[in-house]
Amino acid sequence: MMKRKPDWLKIQLPKGDDYSYVNGIVRDHGLHTICSSGKCPNVGECWGNGTATFMILGNICTRACKFCNVKTGKPLEADWKEPRRLAKSIKLMKLKHAVITSVDRDDLEDGGSGIWAETIKEIRKDNPTTTLEVLIPDFNGKEEDIQRVIDEKPEVISHNLETVRRLTPEVRSRAKYDLSLKVLKQIADAGIVAKSGIMLGLGETEEEIYQVMDDLLAVGVKVMTIGQYLQPTRQHLTVEEYVTPETFKKYETVGLEKGFTFCESTPLVRSSYHAERHVKALDLK
Ligand code: SF4
Ligand code: SF4
Repeated sequence: MMKRKPDWLKIQLPKGDDYSYVNGIVRDHGLHTICSSGKCPNVGECWGNGTATFMILGNICTRACKFCNVKTGKPLEADWKEPRRLAKSIKLMKLKHAVITSVDRDDLEDGGSGIWAETIKEIRKDNPTTTLEVLIPDFNGKEEDIQRVIDEKPEVISHNLETVRRLTPEVRSRAKYDLSLKVLKQIADAGIVAKSGIMLGLGETEEEIYQVMDDLLAVGVKVMTIGQYLQPTRQHLTVEEYVTPETFKKYETVGLEKGFTFCESTPLVRSSYHAERHVKALDLK
């Protein structure tokens, strides 16, 4: 049976001029956002504040994670003009901090890392003072592909663990817990701020959450986000538990005590939620 959503998950509906403006830019430039493709509950707030998380390499993913609303299938051909359109859009939106993510492109020889690098280059050309945060796939652990993104030196590189070790095989498709830690280690070892996040409410225990924190800290991750999993459709994993805001707060306190520079943990937190605050706290630019 579906659990009733608690009051603390009531969200702000998309409205207002800023929301329409962002919507118009995304549509007119043929771009995608994880905000709408992923049915993010914060769209009203983030777009209303003029921020969005762009999703590159199309909107069809080669993987099928059981929590994710992005379409799965055979992606369209890689679009090398997309980086330029995105750079222009970020300029129009006057973003101080831009967050970019992508679908997984296991169909491409380089996993899409070439377009990733090109995207960062193009954005820098038009937006030299904008800080960049890129939420990347695991590139099947191929170090040269991950390095291609690292070489462009975005201020923050995120890669989400999404859940605790035990639940990874049923929650994520193809991805592996240890492989993701390895990706994060490569990022942190290169001297770039590494960030990761998990969702709660999938059946994890408190001890398992603390283990995730320890595992992330051990590979050098500095920023951690923790939010509530919400079921996008009936075909996706059901919510096992709605974790209370007080418990989220407790995890944030523990995370900071354990050693994260920044740990944001509330029910509506997503990897990209309030991302500009993490950058300010880290004093990156
Ligand atoms: Fe978009 Fe992230 Fe905000 Fe959600 S939290 S609406 S994905 S920017
Ligand atoms: Fe969604 Fe998984 Fe594809 Fe990422 S890899 S876009 S989480 S289906």
